[in-house]
Amino acid sequence: MLPENGRSAQDILAELARLRTDDLAVRGGTVTAYVYDTGRPEVHDVAARAYLEMLEVNTLDPTAFPSIVALERQVVGWVAGALGGGPHTPGIFTSGGTESIMLAVKAARDTRPVAGRPRVVAPVTAHPAFHKAAHYLGARVVPVDVDPVTFRADPAAVAAAIDDDTVLVVASAPSYPQGVVDPVPEIAALAAARGVPCHVDACVGGWLLPWLAEAGAEVPPFDLSVPGVTSLSCDLHKFGYAPKGASVVLFADPALRRAAYFASAAWPGYTVINSGVQSSKSAGPLAGAWATLNAVGREGYLALARDALAAARRLVEGIGAIPGLRVLGAPDASLVAFTGEDGAGDGAGKGVDVFVLADEARRRGWFLQPQLSYAGIPANLHVTVTGVTLAGVEALLEVIGASAEAARRRGPARLPDGLAEILATLDLDALDDAAFAELAASVGVDLAGAGGPDMAVVNTVLDALPAANREAILIRFLSVLYG
Ligand SMILES: *Cc1c(COP(=O)(O)O)cnc(C)c1O
Repeated sequence: MLPENGRSAQDILAELARLRTDDLAVRGGTVTAYVYDTGRPEVHDVAARAYLEMLEVNTLDPTAFPSIVALERQVVGWVAGALGGGPHTPGIFTSGGTESIMLAVKAARDTRPVAGRPRVVAPVTAHPAFHKAAHYLGARVVPVDVDPVTFRADPAAVAAAIDDDTVLVVASAPSYPQGVVDPVPEIAALAAARGVPCHVDACVGGWLLPWLAEAGAEVPPFDLSVPGVTSLSCDLHKFGYAPKGASVVLFADPALRRAAYFASAAWPGYTVINSGVQSSKSAGPLAGAWATLNAVGREGYLALARDALAAARRLVEGIGAIPGLRVLGAPDASLVAFTGEDGAGDGAGKGVDVFVLADEARRRGWFLQPQLSYAGIPANLHVTVTGVTLAGVEALLEVIGASAEAARRRGPARLPDGLAEILATLDLDALDDAAFAELAASVGVDLAGAGGPDMAVVNTVLDALPAANREAILIRFLSVLYG
C-alpha cells in the first residue's frame, strides 16, 4: 500500500537494501553477464555523482538544457573517433543497444521506400533487438544461417537473402552468442552493390574491439570506415563500463540520422522533437556515460582490454582442458561460449548438461548465462569476460571444472515424458496466468521462486521447444512474475 505519510529516507533506503539481498552481485566479476565492473570503485563513484547531478534534467527539450547537447556532442564524437568516423560523424546518444538498433532500422526504412513490407536481412546470431525493431516498425526479419563451425555470417547466404523489399542488412561485431565478428567488409560491399544500407551491430564490441586491436589482438575490419557500412551501434553501458542507459548509434551521413529523428507538431501542446524513442527522459545516463569515459580515459580502456583479453585467452584454454566441455568457435572479442559434449561416443550419461552446470556454478557463487540451442547451434553457456575477470579467472575455471564434474555425476535435467509435446501443442490462450502457474508447478517449476538454483529444468523445457513456443511461454512467465 502507498504510505499514507512519507517515510524517512533511512527507512526507505533500508527497505531497498533488503529488497536487493537476492540480487546477483553487480561488482567483483562473479556474475559473467549483465554487469560490467572496471574493478575501480572510484570510476563508478564519479559516474554515480555525475548521474545524480543530471538526474532531474529532462532531455525532452535540448534548447532548455544546453548542457545535454554539449555532453552528447562530446560522447558521440569520442565514439565516432574510435570507430572509423570523424568529428562531424552524426550520431545519437540512446538508452541502450535496443534503442540504437531501433533507430538504425527506422532510418533505413524511412530512407529506402520499398513496395512491400520492409525486410531486414540478419544472420541468426544477430541480436533479437532487430526482431523487436522490425516488430515495432512494421518490418520483417529475414534470418540467414551462419557458418556452423565459425558461427560467422555467410556473405553468400546474406547476398541470396537480399531482395527488392530489403531496407537493411545486418552484421555483428561481434555477435553476442559466440563473440565472433561477422565478415563486415564482404557483407557491407554486397549490400552497397544492391543499394541497401548496412548496419554493424557493435553494441557489445564497439567499445572493446578498438582497444583489443591496440592491445595486439587480431581484430577484423568492422567499423564505419568500411565501405558500405551506413550505421553502427555501440553500447557504452557494456564495455564502456558506464551506468545502464547508455549507447550511441552512428550514421554515415546526416540524412540517415534525420530519418532516425522524430518531430511532431500535430497537437496544440509543446513542440515535440525527439532524437530517440523516448520523449521525457533523464539526462542522468548521458552524464554517467560522459563521466565514465572521462574517468577511465584511453589508457584505462586499453588496460581493461588487455586484462579482458588475457582472461579470455586463459578461459578458452582452460575450458578446452576440462573433459566434456568445448568452446564454440574462436572468439574474436572477450565473449566466450562453451557447450557440453553430448557424450554420444562415450556412452549415454557421460556428457555434461550445461544447464545443470550453470546451476552448480550458481551454488558455488558464480553466474554463467545459459543460451538455448538455436538454428543448429547447441545449448551453451556464455561468459562475458571483462576487465575484472582476470583477477578471478583461475577461480572461475575451478568452479567451471567442479561444476562440470558435478553435472556429469547428476546427469542431465530430466523432463516428464511427453511434456515438450504437450507444451508445444498447448493452447496457451486458453489458460489464464493462474492455470499456467499451476501447470508449471505440476512439473516441478516454482514460478514464484524463479531465478533460484533450479533453472536447469526451466531451460531444458524451453530448449525442447521451437522458438515460437518458447516466446509464448516466456511472455506467460513474465505475466505471472509481475502478477
Ligand atoms: C547487448 C546487445 C544488444 C542490445 O542491447 P541492450 O542495451 O540490452 O538493449 C544488441 N546487440 C548486441 C550484439 C548486444 O550484445
